Amino acid sequence: MAAASATRLLNNGCRIPLLGLGTWKSDPGVVGKAVSAAIDAGYRHIDGAYSYMNEAEVGAAVKKKIEEGVVTREDLFIVSKKVLGELFPMRKGRVLVSDADYVDTWRAMEVLVDEGLVKSIGVSNFNISQLERLLSVARIIPAVNQVELHPYLTQPELVEFCATRDIALTAFSPLGSPGRTVLNDSADPKDLLKDPVVEVIAKNHRKSSAQVLLRFHVQRNIATIPKSVTPARIQENAEIFDFELMDEDLQSLLTLNKNWRVCQLTMLQDHQFYPFNDS
Ligand code: NDP
Repeated sequence: MAAASATRLLNNGCRIPLLGLGTWKSDPGVVGKAVSAAIDAGYRHIDGAYSYMNEAEVGAAVKKKIEEGVVTREDLFIVSKKVLGELFPMRKGRVLVSDADYVDTWRAMEVLVDEGLVKSIGVSNFNISQLERLLSVARIIPAVNQVELHPYLTQPELVEFCATRDIALTAFSPLGSPGRTVLNDSADPKDLLKDPVVEVIAKNHRKSSAQVLLRFHVQRNIATIPKSVTPARIQENAEIFDFELMDEDLQSLLTLNKNWRVCQLTMLQDHQFYPFNDS
Protein backbone atom coordinates (compact mmCIF):
# COMPACT_ATOMS: atom_id res chain seq x y z
CA MET A 1 0.00 0.00 0.00
CA ALA A 2 1.67 3.14 -1.18
CA ALA A 3 -0.94 5.85 -1.04
CA ALA A 4 -3.55 7.43 1.18
CA SER A 5 -6.06 6.12 -1.36
CA ALA A 6 -5.31 2.41 -0.67
CA THR A 7 -8.59 0.53 -0.81
CA ARG A 8 -10.32 -2.67 0.22
CA LEU A 9 -12.72 -4.55 -2.03
CA LEU A 10 -16.30 -4.66 -0.77
CA ASN A 11 -18.69 -7.58 -1.21
CA ASN A 12 -20.54 -5.66 -3.97
CA GLY A 13 -17.46 -5.05 -6.12
CA CYS A 14 -17.00 -1.41 -5.01
CA ARG A 15 -13.85 -0.33 -3.19
CA ILE A 16 -13.62 1.56 0.11
CA PRO A 17 -10.52 3.70 0.74
CA LEU A 18 -8.94 2.47 3.96
CA LEU A 19 -8.33 6.00 5.21
CA GLY A 20 -11.19 8.44 5.60
CA LEU A 21 -11.77 11.75 7.32
CA GLY A 22 -14.12 11.79 10.32
CA THR A 23 -16.33 14.86 10.61
CA TRP A 24 -18.29 14.45 13.83
CA LYS A 25 -17.77 17.49 16.07
CA SER A 26 -16.05 19.38 13.28
CA ASP A 27 -17.75 22.73 13.58
CA PRO A 28 -19.52 24.57 10.80
CA GLY A 29 -17.09 27.12 9.35
CA VAL A 30 -14.23 24.69 10.01
CA VAL A 31 -15.33 21.36 8.59
CA GLY A 32 -15.21 22.53 4.97
CA LYS A 33 -11.55 23.52 5.31
CA ALA A 34 -10.80 20.14 6.90
CA VAL A 35 -12.45 18.28 4.00
CA SER A 36 -10.54 20.42 1.53
CA ALA A 37 -7.21 19.78 3.31
CA ALA A 38 -7.97 16.07 3.46
CA ILE A 39 -8.67 15.78 -0.27
CA ASP A 40 -5.46 17.70 -0.98
CA ALA A 41 -3.61 15.24 1.30
CA GLY A 42 -4.96 12.28 -0.69
CA TYR A 43 -8.00 11.21 1.35
CA ARG A 44 -10.70 9.78 -0.89
CA HIS A 45 -13.17 8.73 1.82
CA ILE A 46 -15.19 11.21 3.85
CA ASP A 47 -17.34 10.04 6.75
CA GLY A 48 -20.42 12.06 7.58
CA ALA A 49 -23.89 11.82 9.03
CA TYR A 50 -27.05 13.88 9.08
CA SER A 51 -26.75 14.05 12.86
CA TYR A 52 -23.33 15.77 12.68
CA MET A 53 -25.24 18.81 11.40
CA ASN A 54 -22.48 19.84 9.01
CA GLU A 55 -23.16 17.77 5.89
CA ALA A 56 -24.05 20.78 3.72
CA GLU A 57 -20.62 22.32 4.30
CA VAL A 58 -18.91 18.96 3.73
CA GLY A 59 -20.78 18.65 0.44
CA ALA A 60 -19.88 22.18 -0.62
CA ALA A 61 -16.18 21.53 0.02
CA VAL A 62 -16.30 18.29 -1.99
CA LYS A 63 -18.10 20.08 -4.85
CA LYS A 64 -15.43 22.78 -4.92
CA LYS A 65 -12.61 20.23 -5.15
CA ILE A 66 -14.41 18.53 -8.03
CA GLU A 67 -14.91 21.87 -9.79
CA GLU A 68 -11.22 22.66 -9.30
CA GLY A 69 -10.39 19.38 -11.04
CA VAL A 70 -8.53 17.95 -8.04
CA VAL A 71 -10.80 14.89 -7.89
CA THR A 72 -13.81 13.45 -9.65
CA ARG A 73 -16.95 12.28 -7.89
CA GLU A 74 -16.02 8.72 -8.93
CA ASP A 75 -12.74 9.05 -7.01
CA LEU A 76 -14.58 9.65 -3.75
CA PHE A 77 -16.29 7.35 -1.24
CA ILE A 78 -18.74 9.51 0.67
CA VAL A 79 -20.47 8.01 3.69
CA SER A 80 -23.68 9.33 5.16
CA LYS A 81 -25.78 7.95 7.98
CA LYS A 82 -29.32 8.57 8.86
CA VAL A 83 -31.41 7.84 11.90
CA LEU A 84 -35.07 7.52 11.09
CA GLY A 85 -37.52 10.18 12.16
CA GLU A 86 -36.61 13.43 13.86
CA LEU A 87 -33.13 14.32 14.97
CA PHE A 88 -32.68 12.86 18.44
CA PRO A 89 -36.29 12.68 19.65
CA MET A 90 -36.42 12.22 23.42
CA ARG A 91 -38.53 9.87 25.53
CA LYS A 92 -38.30 9.70 29.32
CA GLY A 93 -35.15 11.83 29.26
CA ARG A 94 -33.29 9.54 26.86
CA VAL A 95 -32.70 9.71 23.15
CA LEU A 96 -34.95 7.43 21.16
CA VAL A 97 -32.92 6.04 18.29
CA SER A 98 -35.89 5.03 16.19
CA ASP A 99 -39.35 3.55 16.43
CA ALA A 100 -38.70 1.58 13.26
CA ASP A 101 -37.40 -1.95 13.06
CA TYR A 102 -34.02 -1.81 11.36
CA VAL A 103 -35.03 -4.71 9.12
CA ASP A 104 -37.73 -2.49 7.60
CA THR A 105 -35.18 0.29 7.23
CA TRP A 106 -32.81 -2.13 5.53
CA ARG A 107 -35.50 -3.14 3.01
CA ALA A 108 -35.99 0.54 2.17
CA MET A 109 -32.22 0.93 1.73
CA GLU A 110 -32.15 -2.06 -0.62
CA VAL A 111 -34.67 -0.24 -2.80
CA LEU A 112 -32.30 2.75 -2.93
CA VAL A 113 -29.67 0.43 -4.39
CA ASP A 114 -32.20 -1.00 -6.89
CA GLU A 115 -33.04 2.54 -7.99
CA GLY A 116 -29.37 3.46 -8.39
CA LEU A 117 -29.55 6.20 -5.75
CA VAL A 118 -26.71 4.72 -3.65
CA LYS A 119 -23.99 2.22 -4.48
CA SER A 120 -23.16 0.55 -1.18
CA ILE A 121 -25.31 0.18 1.91
CA GLY A 122 -24.08 -0.70 5.36
CA VAL A 123 -24.81 -0.49 9.06
CA SER A 124 -23.21 1.11 12.07
CA ASN A 125 -22.85 -0.03 15.66
CA PHE A 126 -24.35 -3.42 14.84
CA ASN A 127 -23.39 -6.31 17.08
CA ILE A 128 -23.34 -9.98 16.06
CA SER A 129 -26.96 -10.65 17.08
CA GLN A 130 -28.20 -7.72 15.06
CA LEU A 131 -26.13 -8.72 12.04
CA GLU A 132 -27.40 -12.31 12.23
CA ARG A 133 -30.99 -11.11 12.35
CA LEU A 134 -30.40 -8.80 9.39
CA LEU A 135 -28.53 -11.42 7.36
CA SER A 136 -31.39 -13.89 7.82
CA VAL A 137 -33.70 -11.66 5.76
CA ALA A 138 -31.46 -9.33 3.73
CA ARG A 139 -31.45 -9.47 -0.06
CA ILE A 140 -28.27 -7.36 -0.06
CA ILE A 141 -25.57 -8.19 2.48
CA PRO A 142 -24.30 -5.05 4.26
CA ALA A 143 -21.10 -3.88 2.62
CA VAL A 144 -19.73 -2.29 5.79
CA ASN A 145 -20.33 -2.22 9.54
CA GLN A 146 -18.92 0.97 11.09
CA VAL A 147 -18.08 0.42 14.76
CA GLU A 148 -15.77 1.71 17.45
CA LEU A 149 -12.43 -0.11 17.21
CA HIS A 150 -8.99 0.63 18.64
CA PRO A 151 -6.50 -1.24 20.86
CA TYR A 152 -8.64 -0.64 23.98
CA LEU A 153 -11.70 -2.09 22.20
CA THR A 154 -10.58 -4.76 19.75
CA GLN A 155 -13.90 -6.66 19.45
CA PRO A 156 -12.29 -9.92 18.21
CA GLU A 157 -15.56 -11.88 17.86
CA LEU A 158 -17.18 -9.14 15.81
CA VAL A 159 -14.07 -8.73 13.63
CA GLU A 160 -14.03 -12.49 12.99
CA PHE A 161 -17.79 -12.63 12.33
CA CYS A 162 -17.59 -9.82 9.77
CA ALA A 163 -14.55 -11.38 8.09
CA THR A 164 -16.35 -14.70 7.59
CA ARG A 165 -19.42 -12.91 6.10
CA ASP A 166 -17.31 -10.60 3.91
CA ILE A 167 -18.65 -7.51 5.67
CA ALA A 168 -15.95 -4.82 5.77
CA LEU A 169 -15.36 -2.91 8.98
CA THR A 170 -14.72 0.78 9.44
CA ALA A 171 -13.11 1.74 12.75
CA PHE A 172 -14.45 4.92 14.33
CA SER A 173 -12.80 6.81 17.19
CA PRO A 174 -9.48 5.17 16.17
CA LEU A 175 -7.44 7.55 18.32
CA GLY A 176 -9.69 7.03 21.32
CA SER A 177 -11.39 10.38 20.63
CA PRO A 178 -8.95 12.51 22.67
CA GLY A 179 -10.19 15.85 23.85
CA ARG A 180 -13.81 14.86 23.66
CA THR A 181 -15.75 17.18 25.92
CA VAL A 182 -19.25 16.92 24.52
CA LEU A 183 -21.07 13.59 24.54
CA ASN A 184 -18.24 12.04 26.49
CA ASP A 185 -20.06 8.98 27.68
CA SER A 186 -17.12 7.25 29.24
CA ALA A 187 -17.04 7.50 33.01
CA ASP A 188 -13.45 6.30 32.83
CA PRO A 189 -11.63 8.42 30.24
CA LYS A 190 -8.33 7.07 28.92
CA ASP A 191 -5.62 8.58 26.74
CA LEU A 192 -4.86 5.98 24.11
CA LEU A 193 -2.33 8.26 22.38
CA LYS A 194 -0.22 8.21 25.56
CA ASP A 195 -0.37 4.48 26.16
CA PRO A 196 3.26 3.38 26.83
CA VAL A 197 2.99 0.35 24.51
CA VAL A 198 1.73 2.54 21.67
CA GLU A 199 4.45 5.12 22.37
CA VAL A 200 7.24 2.52 22.27
CA ILE A 201 6.00 1.05 18.97
CA ALA A 202 5.74 4.57 17.55
CA LYS A 203 9.30 5.38 18.63
CA ASN A 204 10.62 2.15 17.09
CA HIS A 205 9.07 3.03 13.74
CA ARG A 206 9.85 6.78 14.00
CA LYS A 207 6.16 7.49 13.71
CA SER A 208 3.62 9.19 15.97
CA SER A 209 1.23 7.32 18.26
CA ALA A 210 -1.64 8.42 16.02
CA GLN A 211 0.05 6.93 12.97
CA VAL A 212 0.56 3.61 14.77
CA LEU A 213 -3.09 3.53 15.88
CA LEU A 214 -4.27 4.13 12.31
CA ARG A 215 -1.80 1.68 10.77
CA PHE A 216 -3.11 -0.93 13.27
CA HIS A 217 -6.39 -0.93 11.29
CA VAL A 218 -5.33 -0.47 7.68
CA GLN A 219 -2.75 -3.25 7.97
CA ARG A 220 -5.62 -5.57 8.92
CA ASN A 221 -7.73 -4.36 5.97
CA ILE A 222 -10.02 -2.35 8.23
CA ALA A 223 -10.93 1.16 7.08
CA THR A 224 -10.53 3.97 9.60
CA ILE A 225 -11.79 7.53 9.83
CA PRO A 226 -9.76 9.76 12.17
CA LYS A 227 -11.36 13.13 12.73
CA SER A 228 -9.25 16.26 12.61
CA VAL A 229 -9.76 19.88 11.71
CA THR A 230 -6.03 20.59 11.99
CA PRO A 231 -4.25 20.56 8.58
CA ALA A 232 -0.94 19.28 10.02
CA ARG A 233 -2.71 16.37 11.74
CA ILE A 234 -4.80 15.61 8.65
CA GLN A 235 -1.50 15.28 6.78
CA GLU A 236 0.15 13.29 9.60
CA ASN A 237 -2.76 10.86 9.71
CA ALA A 238 -2.37 10.21 5.97
CA GLU A 239 1.29 9.21 6.33
CA ILE A 240 0.58 5.63 7.35
CA PHE A 241 1.27 3.77 4.13
CA ASP A 242 5.06 3.98 4.20
CA PHE A 243 5.76 1.67 7.14
CA GLU A 244 4.69 -1.73 8.38
CA LEU A 245 3.96 -2.90 11.89
CA MET A 246 5.59 -6.20 12.77
CA ASP A 247 3.49 -9.16 13.88
CA GLU A 248 4.68 -8.66 17.45
CA ASP A 249 3.60 -4.99 17.29
CA LEU A 250 0.11 -6.02 16.20
CA GLN A 251 -0.03 -8.67 18.94
CA SER A 252 1.08 -6.15 21.59
CA LEU A 253 -1.59 -3.70 20.45
CA LEU A 254 -4.28 -6.40 20.45
CA THR A 255 -3.40 -7.41 24.02
CA LEU A 256 -4.18 -3.86 25.20
CA ASN A 257 -7.88 -4.63 24.86
CA LYS A 258 -9.90 -3.47 27.88
CA ASN A 259 -13.38 -3.55 26.31
CA TRP A 260 -13.34 0.20 26.90
CA ARG A 261 -15.71 2.24 24.82
CA VAL A 262 -15.36 5.93 24.15
CA CYS A 263 -18.80 5.98 22.69
CA GLN A 264 -21.01 4.17 25.16
CA LEU A 265 -24.03 6.17 24.06
CA THR A 266 -25.64 5.53 27.41
CA MET A 267 -28.11 8.30 26.75
CA LEU A 268 -29.74 6.20 24.06
CA GLN A 269 -33.14 4.77 24.77
CA ASP A 270 -33.07 1.00 25.20
CA HIS A 271 -34.80 -0.57 22.23
CA GLN A 272 -35.76 -4.16 21.62
CA PHE A 273 -33.97 -4.11 18.30
CA TYR A 274 -31.12 -1.90 19.48
CA PRO A 275 -29.26 -3.79 22.18
CA PHE A 276 -26.10 -2.05 20.92
CA ASN A 277 -23.84 -4.24 22.91
CA ASP A 278 -23.68 -8.00 23.26
CA SER A 279 -21.68 -7.89 26.45
P1 NDP B 1 -10.90 10.20 16.87
O1 NDP B 1 -10.35 9.02 17.55
O2 NDP B 1 -10.81 10.31 15.39
O3 NDP B 1 -10.21 11.48 17.54
C1 NDP B 1 -10.46 12.78 17.10
C2 NDP B 1 -9.67 13.73 18.00
O4 NDP B 1 -8.27 13.47 17.86
C3 NDP B 1 -9.86 15.20 17.70
O5 NDP B 1 -9.92 15.87 18.94
C4 NDP B 1 -8.60 15.59 16.92
O6 NDP B 1 -8.26 16.94 17.17
C5 NDP B 1 -7.56 14.66 17.54
N1 NDP B 1 -6.52 14.25 16.59
C6 NDP B 1 -6.65 13.93 15.27
N2 NDP B 1 -5.47 13.57 14.74
C7 NDP B 1 -4.54 13.69 15.74
C8 NDP B 1 -3.15 13.44 15.80
N3 NDP B 1 -2.48 13.04 14.73
N4 NDP B 1 -2.53 13.64 16.99
C9 NDP B 1 -3.22 14.04 18.08
N5 NDP B 1 -4.55 14.28 18.08
C10 NDP B 1 -5.22 14.09 16.91
O7 NDP B 1 -12.40 10.32 17.38
P2 NDP B 1 -13.87 10.55 16.82
O8 NDP B 1 -14.74 10.17 17.95
O9 NDP B 1 -14.01 11.89 16.22
O10 NDP B 1 -14.05 9.45 15.68
C11 NDP B 1 -13.68 9.67 14.33
C12 NDP B 1 -14.89 9.75 13.42
O11 NDP B 1 -15.64 8.54 13.48
C13 NDP B 1 -15.94 10.81 13.78
O12 NDP B 1 -15.52 12.12 13.46
C14 NDP B 1 -17.11 10.32 12.99
O13 NDP B 1 -16.98 10.66 11.61
C15 NDP B 1 -17.02 8.81 13.20
N6 NDP B 1 -17.83 8.34 14.35
C16 NDP B 1 -18.90 7.50 14.07
C17 NDP B 1 -19.72 7.07 15.09
C18 NDP B 1 -20.88 6.17 14.79
O14 NDP B 1 -21.71 5.91 15.69
N7 NDP B 1 -20.98 5.64 13.58
C19 NDP B 1 -19.49 7.46 16.48
C20 NDP B 1 -18.29 8.25 16.68
C21 NDP B 1 -17.51 8.66 15.65
P3 NDP B 1 -8.39 18.13 16.09
O15 NDP B 1 -9.65 17.93 15.28
O16 NDP B 1 -8.46 19.36 16.96
O17 NDP B 1 -7.16 18.09 15.24
